[in-house]
Amino acid sequence: MSEKPAVSEDSIRDLVQAGSSPEARARFGAFLGISKPVSQKVMTRVLTEPAYALQLVEAAGLPDRLEPLLEDISASLPKKISATDTELLAHAAQAFSRWAKTGFAWVDDERYHARLATCHACEHFGAAPAERLIYRLVGRERAICARCGCVVTRKARLPTENCPEPDMVHPNLSRWGEPRAR
Ligand code: SF4
Repeated sequence: MSEKPAVSEDSIRDLVQAGSSPEARARFGAFLGISKPVSQKVMTRVLTEPAYALQLVEAAGLPDRLEPLLEDISASLPKKISATDTELLAHAAQAFSRWAKTGFAWVDDERYHARLATCHACEHFGAAPAERLIYRLVGRERAICARCGCVVTRKARLPTENCPEPDMVHPNLSRWGEPRAR
């Protein structure tokens, strides 16, 4: 198994280009809950270092956790990550790169809350395992989807994500009622 997770299947240059426009940086800043675009320096690290991106996204709306991450962007993150966490990190990085290509668009509140309501009623919805470094990195008391390992409140915001389970009545749709990839 690879030691270092891939940022995406596409080239880093394409990804940085797609996610670095002033509009994308402003939208990402708004997603984080700050009133200005994130700097180009922050964005470049976000798009090339999955652990940093994940930590930043999970600090969205929490100024005390965001500020040090945005100000001291050279600070290093934990280096020892288990193979399972590495897989999850690679998965999160791919989801992040798909999202970056939309210029950090997100779903409207109605769709977001509909997705969350489905997750809350799902047997795969539960607390993140406390012993996993990846979840300690992103904070405590996060509810995750055990099928994909994603933090549900974040995943449900992204237009590029879908529920991995088929709808019981309409298997061509996910449980979120959205078309599944062929
Ligand atoms: S994403 Fe789908 S499988 Fe995961 S918790 Fe939500 S409804 Fe369940």
